[in-house]
Amino acid sequence: MSSWKESVRRVTPYTPGEQPKLSRVIKLNTNENPYPPSPRVAEAIASVSMDSLRKYPDPGCADLISAIADYHSVDSSNVFVGVGSDDVLAMSFLTFFNSDKPVLFPDITYSFYDVWADLFRIPYVQKPLDADFKIKSSDYTSPCGGIVIPNPNAPTGVAEPVSFFENIVAAHPECVVIIDEAYVDFGSQSCLDLTRKYDNVLVVRTYSKSRAMAGNRIGYAIGSAELIKYLSDCKFSFNSYTMDTITLAAGVASIQDDDYFKARVADVIVTREWTKEKLLELGFTFPESMSNFIFAKHESVGATYIFEELKKRGIFVRHFSKPARIADYLRISIGTDEEMAAFIESVKEIIAGR
Ligand SMILES: *Cc1c(COP(=O)(O)O)cnc(C)c1O
Repeated sequence: MSSWKESVRRVTPYTPGEQPKLSRVIKLNTNENPYPPSPRVAEAIASVSMDSLRKYPDPGCADLISAIADYHSVDSSNVFVGVGSDDVLAMSFLTFFNSDKPVLFPDITYSFYDVWADLFRIPYVQKPLDADFKIKSSDYTSPCGGIVIPNPNAPTGVAEPVSFFENIVAAHPECVVIIDEAYVDFGSQSCLDLTRKYDNVLVVRTYSKSRAMAGNRIGYAIGSAELIKYLSDCKFSFNSYTMDTITLAAGVASIQDDDYFKARVADVIVTREWTKEKLLELGFTFPESMSNFIFAKHESVGATYIFEELKKRGIFVRHFSKPARIADYLRISIGTDEEMAAFIESVKEIIAGR
């Protein structure tokens, strides 16, 4: 007898980093920003009228789109917004990756890409990073169904220059190239200019890391007006009202406070560089990180041991057991100076006690 279970869309879901319920923990495991969002965000949220919640939000998200367009000096027709960049990326996979040829992305990268590809039945091939965790441009030369690469890459933090991506984009008029710039604000080059020159490149950004608004869920994409139109058509065929009234107001306020934004990002970079020095002194190695996390391996003490010992002390970092060649690494998000000092002290203790 046949069962309904045979026609279920089966997927292995993405596993997000742990969100511990305890309040007195040092949370360095999901690349959140340790600082609060701009004070203007609180004002904007407080000034949303309760009566406005009675009505549906603006389905076109016009105010937020126009604020993002102004910030990046592009036209509103070049901007698409969604519920975090995960929503924007998922919608982009659905819209643009519809070929029988495989979509290409690195083997060590954001672990949601293969999940969306499986969910949408998109064929894909993962290209191995080299021994220094760098992307090999020669892996991205043959015709394919699409390309998606984060820059800087996650969880390695390694960034490539714009010229690296321009070569890939120019070589692939047959497909859309998505550049996921979740961490670009922490010091690497942006590929936004490529979106003016090529109609097949989509740059995706998020408010979750550099803008300290992971809890609001705001992401966006910038690309040619034609790409954005196709994306919007898919979005309006799925759910018209993805972003709520309060979040739309918060998103405008954040992007209009550039002084605050730049100051907090600079704070994170200073702390990151301090943390790198301390980790080196303690016997860690890591690829050069241009993001708000460091992907580090200790010369003698195993990552699982350090991870568990840190957890006992209320300090959460991220450990990926797969693929095997990254099982010795810990991904450490950059917190405040105090948090990183406490982290370094604990690591010292753990290594000494081993
Ligand atoms: C965090 C992250 C995202 C998702 O961000 P949200 O906007 O919070 O959905 C996307 N891509 C990469 C590489 C990330 O690290």
